[in-house]
Amino acid sequence: MDITFYGAAREVTGSCFLIRYRDRRILFDCGMRQGTREADRKNRRKFSFDPGKLDAVVLSHAHLDHCGLLPKLAAAGYAGPVYATPATIALTEIILRDSAHIQESDAERETRWRERKGKSAVEPNYTTEDVEKVLPLFKPVKYWRDFQPLEEVTFRFHDAGHILGSAITEFELGSGGNMRRLVMSGDLGPDHQALIRDPETLEHAHALVMESTYGDRDHRPKEETLAEFEKVLHEARKTGGHVIIPAFAVGRTQSLIYRLAELDREGRLPFREVYIDSPMALTTTGLYCHNAGLFDDETVKLIEQGFELCDLDFVHFTHSVEDSKALNELKRPAIIIAASGMCTGGRVLHHLKHNLWRREAHVVFVGYQGRGTTGRQLVDGAKSVRVYGEQIAVKAQIHTINGFSAHAGRSDLLRWHDHFTKGNPQTMLVHGEEDSMAALAEALEHRRHAKPAMPKEGETISFGRD
Ligand SMILES: [Zn+2]
Ligand SMILES: [Zn+2]
Repeated sequence: MDITFYGAAREVTGSCFLIRYRDRRILFDCGMRQGTREADRKNRRKFSFDPGKLDAVVLSHAHLDHCGLLPKLAAAGYAGPVYATPATIALTEIILRDSAHIQESDAERETRWRERKGKSAVEPNYTTEDVEKVLPLFKPVKYWRDFQPLEEVTFRFHDAGHILGSAITEFELGSGGNMRRLVMSGDLGPDHQALIRDPETLEHAHALVMESTYGDRDHRPKEETLAEFEKVLHEARKTGGHVIIPAFAVGRTQSLIYRLAELDREGRLPFREVYIDSPMALTTTGLYCHNAGLFDDETVKLIEQGFELCDLDFVHFTHSVEDSKALNELKRPAIIIAASGMCTGGRVLHHLKHNLWRREAHVVFVGYQGRGTTGRQLVDGAKSVRVYGEQIAVKAQIHTINGFSAHAGRSDLLRWHDHFTKGNPQTMLVHGEEDSMAALAEALEHRRHAKPAMPKEGETISFGRD
């Protein structure tokens, strides 16, 4: 039995691994690469495996870098089951429809541009129709149930504490003395994230594929992060401009709403108006509310005291494009939360265009900024950035608050690995840029006296006998 690393290999995005045992082929995640032109090019390539030969797909969670190429997989002939938790399925539907829509309109815009230059049209990487093809393939599997999709292949989902529905997957492959327990961490959440539970820990694995996004650093402690966030908001309130927070519509936006509500309850929120400018965030927040059974104890207690994530008096969701545009004219200082989180598209670009050049405006980054993205340029101190083909001066104050990450920090990752007390699993690191991966590998080697693998794209690693 072995595993081939087709994506998120020495990079953060594009999670895609092929698990093979005898003639069984299980694809784990089918994610999109994000952030650069090179990533786009790779997303458009043919799959390096035969989609028609797969027996099953298992999906860890709904983020685009894990599920984003599933419609393309269906378009390429895959018609088998896609297993995921019920909440992941609901979120993935929202995310994939949005993704297809973005790709269709990007292709349309580029085609218009190319036609003016006498060049040929471009096709979107996949379409809404392809999304409709893949959605019926989804089969829900709840947390903590043993599920056997194929002979001698069983798996069980555990809560990964990353976003709603996110899972750690524990596979049992083979039988008798040849049985191997393979744990796929998926993306792991940090300890004490808003709303959802902390990642579960496991004790036993023969082989472990583990994320390493923040393998080289810890996030700031929660209390410091919240204090810093509050300080930035008070500072911004004094200058009188808007606060723009680029944030993913799924997960990050909901934890931000939770934190803002926390400040509001304590009478420490300096703004009376918070706009969530993303139709997708509206649907997603509704979905979070419908899945309150997945919330942590702290949130459950708050709900009993009357807290409602979807119904806070200072939070306004904009519905139409007109509502969104009206925010450009808004004179009263407000907090505007809009996607995409790395400023690679979406409504946040309009807000950047209207605010970056204003000295009184503030942009607050609360998430990971991938290489090559506009978000990364701003965080790195660019004097101007290109937005919709126009060079915009950066006069606004740019802040980065690290502690809000939905990913485990270095110490969280090391502690999580420490829980594997029944033997030392053969560890393979994925989902990290090389520096952070190497740093985590070194620390793990020191603690567990075995060097983790850092597979390259296309590499296959064996972890047991067929
Ligand atoms: Zn994720
Ligand atoms: Zn990811």
